[in-house]
Amino acid sequence: MSTTSTGSPYVIVGASLAGAKAAETLRAEGYAGRIVLIGDEGEYPYERPPLSKGYLLGKNPRDDAYVHEESWYADHDVELRLGRTVTAIDVAASAVVLDDGERIDYTKLLLTTGATPRRLPVPGADLEGVRYLRRLADSDRLLADFRAGRRVVVIGGGWIGLETTAAAREHGCPVTVVEAAPLPLLRVLGDEVARIFLDLHTAHGVEFRLHADVAEIVGAGGKVTGVRLGDGTEVAADVVVVGIGVTPNTALAEAAGLTVDNGIRTDAALRTSAADVYAAGDVANALHPVLGRGIRVEHWANALNQAPAAARSMLGRDVSYDRIPYFFTDQYELGMEYTGYAEPGEYDRVLFRGDPAGGEFIAFWLAEGRVLAGMNVNVWDVTDAIGQLVRSGRAVDPDRLADQGIPLDRV
Ligand code: NAP
Repeated sequence: MSTTSTGSPYVIVGASLAGAKAAETLRAEGYAGRIVLIGDEGEYPYERPPLSKGYLLGKNPRDDAYVHEESWYADHDVELRLGRTVTAIDVAASAVVLDDGERIDYTKLLLTTGATPRRLPVPGADLEGVRYLRRLADSDRLLADFRAGRRVVVIGGGWIGLETTAAAREHGCPVTVVEAAPLPLLRVLGDEVARIFLDLHTAHGVEFRLHADVAEIVGAGGKVTGVRLGDGTEVAADVVVVGIGVTPNTALAEAAGLTVDNGIRTDAALRTSAADVYAAGDVANALHPVLGRGIRVEHWANALNQAPAAARSMLGRDVSYDRIPYFFTDQYELGMEYTGYAEPGEYDRVLFRGDPAGGEFIAFWLAEGRVLAGMNVNVWDVTDAIGQLVRSGRAVDPDRLADQGIPLDRV
């Protein structure tokens, strides 16, 4: 049955994967009224994984990143406003205000405003050759930068940093990773598993400066030539990539009086504290019914799945977004998927099923015998089973969990 509307449009602020998926879902669910999708970039909505993986590796064409072909938006009567910024939300009047002063009234409003890379607050950070990676244009620039022999310094050993490192190595660039913590990915993976990523990159010729802080980016003639560390040493560089995390784009919501706390707070139906206003994707701190608390997930799968749930919620459907968080990475010969949510200090044991040295294994993070998260490395078709273990919340026998002879769904 079609849902028609003669009133104001459904407005989506943020024309990335989440925004495009929400528009797609509104149509798929039969909503026949106006949809306005507003984005501050000139690009049609695209997905981000190719920016640090397939496209940056030079393996996949640029166009593969787009969520839909250009014609899809007109074909589905989705009004795109690209290169336009929403400057205010008037919740009392149910309207948004754009940078050119235009006001658009809304029946329902979805905020998928995403996140912005943290800037490195040191002298020289604005030299030519210092790069961040968030947008398609950033990936274009890096792809052009990565020429064999050009020296790359990556600041931040997180997901952006390590995926970019793997791409730079595949292009034949020497890479040094500068990381503040004692290990890359330490906060997300913990000591036992983070070490595996250190070894992987070291085996691929990457140099690490761990426990290191950046004092200054140095340059000559306006161009970067190196990175000076806190201990006074300098690492030579032709290109510097900064990947030190992101901050959710909450300013609009905050100014409009919505509840914001590490993202825009929502209930499990993705409703914010303001009537008819919803949030999804990187910017949303959504109550997770299985985990029993608000979580903000900055990964692709969350934008892909949470935004459609928000769209259904906007249409009045009964929604409780309870997917178990999931993300993946590909670096050199290592492919992995991570299912669950294990904050530092929440788990008391890391257990391996299979031998990490053999390159194929599953790591589990446990708390009092309960599986909080699992990461399968070069082992496939197990994410549903891992998700079930996380969702069940029951304590499992660690010996059975580690025993590769016992199927995961029988542990
Ligand atoms: P991230 O994964 O949070 O990693 C940032 C890293 O930089 C952390 O290891 C952090 O250490 C370190 N760091 C922070 N300040 C630093 C400094 N001044 N000098 C050196 N190191 C510093 O963030 P990201 O890599 O920038 O990625 C941005 C977002 O995109 C993240 O949410 C990420 O999960 C997501 N993403 C996901 C994927 C994927 O799912 N495969 C791929 C790319 C990006 P501390 O943790 O100790 O602060």
